[in-house]
Amino acid sequence: MEDDISISKGIIEQLVEGTIDDDNVDRLLKLPKKDSDRFFTYIEVLQERVSWNDPILLRLSDKLYIVSKGHGKRVTQCECGFEFGDYRTNWKLASKIRTRKTAEEMKAVYDPAPAVPEAGWQEVREYFCPDCGTQHAVEVVPPGYPVIFEMLPDLDKFYADYLGRPLADASEDWYRDRTSETTATWNQ
Ligand SMILES: [Zn+2]
Repeated sequence: MEDDISISKGIIEQLVEGTIDDDNVDRLLKLPKKDSDRFFTYIEVLQERVSWNDPILLRLSDKLYIVSKGHGKRVTQCECGFEFGDYRTNWKLASKIRTRKTAEEMKAVYDPAPAVPEAGWQEVREYFCPDCGTQHAVEVVPPGYPVIFEMLPDLDKFYADYLGRPLADASEDWYRDRTSETTATWNQ
């Protein structure tokens, strides 16, 4: 197949938008080797879709990103621009949280009935951006269960070892969960 078709930015845009056709999906899947610049083309496409200019380092979910704010600052940021803080602290701690605990509350978002979690044993937590109201995550856990930190990526290793382009502010200190440092301040 033609390499220039498989790696064109237009195809990656369609992939992100969900408008890519079956033939092109098939072509991408059958590539003997993924084009080395694919990730950066993908980031370029994402960057054009947001209204701010801080460089996206990684996309965490549909509208949630890890963004570089310059040397020594990497934050989790909503598509709307809201900053959840240092990406090493679970961003959910800075979100608006709705908890569904009763059967009635859970039935409102579950169908059919057998799929509804059992009240008392489980609860549904929904995490929203405080500014734009986007729902970024949902977790179903036993009451009292710690807030799940879904992803703490080793960005320096990813960029240096897998992409071959080390980040300018690389440091051993980046790959460290700092969530407990945040919650420790809540008692003071
Ligand atoms: Zn937002």
